[in-house]
Amino acid sequence: MGLMTKERYLSGLREFDHSVFINGEAVQNVPDHPISAPPAMAMAETYYLAQQEKTKSLFTTKSNLTGETINRFTHIQQNINDLIKKILMLREMGKKTACCFQRCAGLDCLNTVYAITYDMDQASGTRYHGRFIDFLRYIQTNDLVTAACMTDPKGDRSLSPSKQADKDQYVHIVEEKEAGIVVRGAKLHITGSVNSHELVVVPTRALKEEDRDYAVAFAIPADTKGVTFIYGRQPSDRRRLEDGGPDVGNFFYGGCEAMVVFDDVFVPKERIFMNREYSFAGQLVELFASHHRASYGGCKVGVGDVLIGATAAIAEAHGTDKSSHVKDKISEMIHLNETLHAGALASAGKGSRTASGAYEVDRLMANVCKLNVTRFPFEISRLAQDIAGGLLATMPSLKDQENPKIGPYVRKYLVGKSGVESEKRIRLLRLIENITLGTGAVSYLTESIHGAGSPQAQKIMISRLSDLESAKTSAFHLCGVK
Ligand code: SF4
Ligand code: FE
Repeated sequence: MGLMTKERYLSGLREFDHSVFINGEAVQNVPDHPISAPPAMAMAETYYLAQQEKTKSLFTTKSNLTGETINRFTHIQQNINDLIKKILMLREMGKKTACCFQRCAGLDCLNTVYAITYDMDQASGTRYHGRFIDFLRYIQTNDLVTAACMTDPKGDRSLSPSKQADKDQYVHIVEEKEAGIVVRGAKLHITGSVNSHELVVVPTRALKEEDRDYAVAFAIPADTKGVTFIYGRQPSDRRRLEDGGPDVGNFFYGGCEAMVVFDDVFVPKERIFMNREYSFAGQLVELFASHHRASYGGCKVGVGDVLIGATAAIAEAHGTDKSSHVKDKISEMIHLNETLHAGALASAGKGSRTASGAYEVDRLMANVCKLNVTRFPFEISRLAQDIAGGLLATMPSLKDQENPKIGPYVRKYLVGKSGVESEKRIRLLRLIENITLGTGAVSYLTESIHGAGSPQAQKIMISRLSDLESAKTSAFHLCGVK
């Protein structure tokens, strides 16, 4: 089939019969519900940009499996250039949508399972890699979206999966049949899951032998019997339900997460990529985390671009753009944003070949990048709010401006410098509000802390991966310590 069009993706999603609930109600058409439409549109842009003259060279590439042109969001990275292009593509997408556009978690998971199934087969004589390649060929040929389903609910965090009072706190195998396995459990805050065709389910942590039943990886269509999606709320999401949603801030796009429940779901044998090989769970998690932590130095930087742009524009509208402290703050925002990008590009540039042939990012650089992502978007947001002023969170609705009685007051008192109408100002402030406080803040701030692992997970990896001994040796040599 080759590349799918944006229109075909959206119409397919309408026909898709997966079980989705929003605010306690079943939803028939995800792209048509006012709450879930903007995230579907953000995902759809990954299809659109793959077919535009200006962006197609970045958004498409040649499959190592079929030799055909495929969307880069389904590609197994074959070299350092591929790793770099992924980061550049994600920045482009972030800049276009100002939100989490959701397709990269699945991409990073595909690259991870590709490498780990190869390693498992080499070590244990299993036959997962070939199975996974068949699945991947299907994904690439049909240009499908895969959601990475990793994070389990975890119950009591001090206990391992098999020690939990409720065994379903981690997805696990409950029955083994001739033709496959039956799994039960749930995965939380799964990015883009309701907009995905396939769910790739993997363990969330390193596992011991007693946790063997939890060492399971597989892929199933999102409309498989027993799978239910419960949509995550976001700050100010109900503004999308207001007539025309004039105060949404971002009129086109949004990110989304959902709780995905697996209630005794059957997984056929050919879709199982790990079946109790517990000693590989930790390696899988670590590789996925590295890929996805680097991704954040692409996507969040693109959202940062939009926020910096909106902040510079509001400063102009206010007539403060020439003042030295505002210029300084905007330079600071750019510096922080580009530093995030630099970390991701460094992780790609120092990437290396895995035994499977797929390339992986430099893990230390990827973790450094992501630890910065847990901090800098907050500082960039603080500076944006500083420059924007308090009106950001106190101004009336654009609807007030339409009211014949009070509209003239809004227009009169919310103008900017000469020639700047109140509407322009309100729209820019609403966008900054969206990214730093509203629905967009889930993508830009909450995901920045917790997505791909919370800050402490990066600290642990950084301390493990850094070469402290050789640094000490240099220090001893230079100060004459034998
Ligand atoms: Fe992609 Fe960023 Fe969303 Fe992860 S957080 S899925 S990298 S846009
Ligand atoms: Fe994420």
